[in-house]
Amino acid sequence: MTDTSQSVLSLIVNDSSLDPDLRKIAEKVEAGERISFDEGVILYEKAELGYLGVLSNFVREKLHGHKTYFNRNFHIEPTNLCVYDCKFCSYSRLIKQKEEGWELSMNEMLDMVKKYDNEPVTEVHIVGGVLPQYDMKFYSELFSSIKAHRPELHVKALTPVEYHYIFKKAKVDYATGMRLMKEAGLESMPGGGAEIFNPEIREIICKDKCTAEQWLQIHEEWHKLGQRSNATILYGHIEKYWHRVDHMEQLRQLQDKTKGFQAFIPLKFRNQGNQMSNIEEVSVIEDLRNYAIARIYLDNFDHIKAYWAMISRNTAQLSLNFGVDDIDGTLDDTTKIYSMAGAEEQNPAMSTKELVHLIKQAGRHPIERDTLYNVVTDYNDFVFEEEPKPQFYKLPVINAMEVERKQNE
Ligand code: SF4
Repeated sequence: MTDTSQSVLSLIVNDSSLDPDLRKIAEKVEAGERISFDEGVILYEKAELGYLGVLSNFVREKLHGHKTYFNRNFHIEPTNLCVYDCKFCSYSRLIKQKEEGWELSMNEMLDMVKKYDNEPVTEVHIVGGVLPQYDMKFYSELFSSIKAHRPELHVKALTPVEYHYIFKKAKVDYATGMRLMKEAGLESMPGGGAEIFNPEIREIICKDKCTAEQWLQIHEEWHKLGQRSNATILYGHIEKYWHRVDHMEQLRQLQDKTKGFQAFIPLKFRNQGNQMSNIEEVSVIEDLRNYAIARIYLDNFDHIKAYWAMISRNTAQLSLNFGVDDIDGTLDDTTKIYSMAGAEEQNPAMSTKELVHLIKQAGRHPIERDTLYNVVTDYNDFVFEEEPKPQFYKLPVINAMEVERKQNE
């Protein structure tokens, strides 16, 4: 941690006017102790943004100092058609709305990979809807073909929602299925499909897809193979604060057991173009509070990540003072998941230079990482090549008096 974050936290710990519960939590955070479920709920119910900023920044800087991570990646979304009907989903179209969807073939996806042949990307992120033809055989062939074409490109693909579906169809158990996926070339799993673990909320917003237990079991099997994954939460809709804490508690327990999660990624519910459009979105203040509480609660997660494409560049910059140390990747306009839900970024793409600038503007230290958080390039003192300066052409100067004199001659 930095001296500043320590001394600001000490002010809170010594503030006798502060609510005793919040003071006790601050003492625990300063001592590096884990906070309880009830204390997590207290943070959501009582803590102001300023207080949460101090605590979460203390934890963030203790773990990472000013370092802020990003990667160079692109997405492949095989299809936006889906057999499921999650109420919050703005992205998927039911099979009966087929004309509004896309279904990429194996060759189309491999062509997308080849498009990046001369680009220094380190990761392909594959996730989309669930359809019967995208089965175990299809994905095994896709992963192995990508690895055969470009062995160093990290394949991060599919969530337990897809795995549960394809394993069930192939009649294999989770342990066997994950082992076969690994053998085909899968290297890590993104964090999607978690939504909210509470069964009553899940029943209302996404009742058909895999349950919370199945989601956690699939990650556990993957971690047992020595592999890494991420975890998400979908917040800001019909859930209560305690549902968010319960969700994080279940993740914290699995992480104690397996240590396989790398990053926790809070995903904000966006209300455009879905069946929950009547629900108002939460404010940016609530987004920042949520990042901060996640950072404080999940003491065994190394990273808290914000998807800049979902929350906008400005909020992503702010989040770096509320526990976030990773803002994902360059994306290259290859995902529709956030823009179709109403995110401010309608064509999300940032150059490395722009991402570095964005992080530096927030007073942080930009590090390009690979998927497993190995440092690819430290951009703190990196000088980008000068871009050509704009050219100005000399225009003839027209002297109005001279023109008039000539006209009168
Ligand atoms: S959230 Fe995923 S599983 Fe649910 S409808 Fe959308 S694409 Fe399908």
